[in-house]
Amino acid sequence: VTGDGWVLTGIAELTTADDDLVVDGPAALVCGPDGTVEWVGPERALPAQAGAARFDVGGRAVIPGFVDSHTHLVFAGQRAAEWQARMAGRPYAAGGIRTTVDATRSASEADLLAGARLLAAEARRSGTTTMEVKSGYGLEVAAEARLLAVAQEVSDETTFLGAHVVPAEMAGRVDDYVDLVCGAMLEACAPRARWIDVFCERGAFDADQSRRVLEAGRAAGLGLRLHGNQLGPGPGVALGVELGAASVDHCTHLSGADIDALAGGRHTVATLLPAAEFCTRSPYPDARRLLDAGVKVALASDCNPGSSYTTSMPFVIALAVREMAMTIPEAVRAATAGGADALQRGDIGRLIPGRRADLVVLEAPTAAWLGYRPGVALVRTVVRAGAVVAGSWP
Ligand SMILES: [Zn+2]
Repeated sequence: VTGDGWVLTGIAELTTADDDLVVDGPAALVCGPDGTVEWVGPERALPAQAGAARFDVGGRAVIPGFVDSHTHLVFAGQRAAEWQARMAGRPYAAGGIRTTVDATRSASEADLLAGARLLAAEARRSGTTTMEVKSGYGLEVAAEARLLAVAQEVSDETTFLGAHVVPAEMAGRVDDYVDLVCGAMLEACAPRARWIDVFCERGAFDADQSRRVLEAGRAAGLGLRLHGNQLGPGPGVALGVELGAASVDHCTHLSGADIDALAGGRHTVATLLPAAEFCTRSPYPDARRLLDAGVKVALASDCNPGSSYTTSMPFVIALAVREMAMTIPEAVRAATAGGADALQRGDIGRLIPGRRADLVVLEAPTAAWLGYRPGVALVRTVVRAGAVVAGSWP
């Protein structure tokens, strides 16, 4: 659809993900010719001159497109056997990442790109209109730079995660590896990344090493985000808030001081990844405590072949409601506006005038069905910047 823009009518429930979260139906949305939202509101108040083309969604719900702010999309191989072993009782440890590093290093760039494109298309079909993509399975200068080149083909939100784990060939030499990450690797990767990330966790990088990585990234012009407090209590949240990181991701094992720091910081988003807890049969983060303390919360998929091999944000929302006591409006907001906040993007994530028209028409009368009908493909139409990118107009 081009030209004069278009109008959606017959919306049974419109979730804007803004402060006035939901417009009850029948509601309407006007998209301008530039692919941004021009107007939202009750259908009876629709401006008479609005938009050339009209589409009646027939009593379905509309929500913003999902902003998946945490994925490891570029890799080779798969780890189904490891997952089965874990389901049979073996615990998850960070070392499994090295299996994927071996497969990724020996894959061709064409195969890596084909795999990333397949997963990006899968995510789009389930309603994701923006996706952050990390490196982190190369762990060598050229290999990390190559992963970011692939990531750039599928996303503008690329993240350098050289400090994912210490590669096997440098086992026991963590500080030497941090030198490499902060030196030649960063120099090769920074031009291809918007963000830098570090796995601040026992068995990966401690607080001092994580601080070195993040400060080097900032000096190279990158924004900061980190993996923290996933497998146990740790310094990740405190470090992230202190350095003004955009997001601390996982936040599964938090102290009262961690929650106070996030609530007081008002800058750093807590990004929760419940599909990782689902896939590793681990305790879920205490989302209720974070939300009640006033912390900004995002939901993301953590798509990766080891601990969360899903691109489905509807699944993540169902988990957030069922397992973490989030309400449907809170979960939808965290998966859309929350992700945009975690990526510091003021142009997406909310269906309000001026934002990019990224939206999902659900095969459902309300967004509650995302939890009420778990595992069912409820995404009917996906629109990005005003154009249909998956499904079709009703
Ligand atoms: Zn991750």
